[in-house]
Amino acid sequence: MSCSRGNNARTRPQKHQNKTAFKNNLHDTSKKTKFLNSLEVTGVCERCKEIIEWKIKYKKYKPLTAPAKCVACEQRNIKHAYHVMCINCATEKKVCTKCCKSSEAIVDKKTEIVDNETKLQSIIKNLPERKKRTLLRHIKKKENEGNEVTTSDIDTMLVEIGKLELDNDSSEDVNFFDLDD
Ligand SMILES: [Zn+2]
Ligand SMILES: [Zn+2]
Repeated sequence: MSCSRGNNARTRPQKHQNKTAFKNNLHDTSKKTKFLNSLEVTGVCERCKEIIEWKIKYKKYKPLTAPAKCVACEQRNIKHAYHVMCINCATEKKVCTKCCKSSEAIVDKKTEIVDNETKLQSIIKNLPERKKRTLLRHIKKKENEGNEVTTSDIDTMLVEIGKLELDNDSSEDVNFFDLDD
């Protein structure tokens, strides 16, 4: 899909190919894969989150068949595989539920998404109208492909848009006269 307005077809290959992310549900739409993909990894530090997400992605994740015992309160109240401490104890001690190390960077997916939103809003607010539309289009495209847009994605997009602007600057100048209200 091209976003250029005229019929100035590209003659050179696209400089920055989209990297296709590995999708574990491409050929496998089983219940288990669906379940794994719906899992949210919370209450763990950044490192443990990566480990667990890796297991999910490559189907190495083995869900618990019964609740596991918490190493702190000794209650059988752990529902997530690979966690050794229940969320209550971990929250109280401010540690990771998997490695039990005190961590400043406990992942809370909700705040992460809120942060993304806030960051996005503040970025958009400061963007010129044309860039804003391009960025939103990029985000929409990514979301339509079923990918979650992270703050680092937004950073990458801004860099790409910056390059595109340099590429198309002369041709885009025409749009100076058709600014939206
Ligand atoms: Zn506990
Ligand atoms: Zn950890």
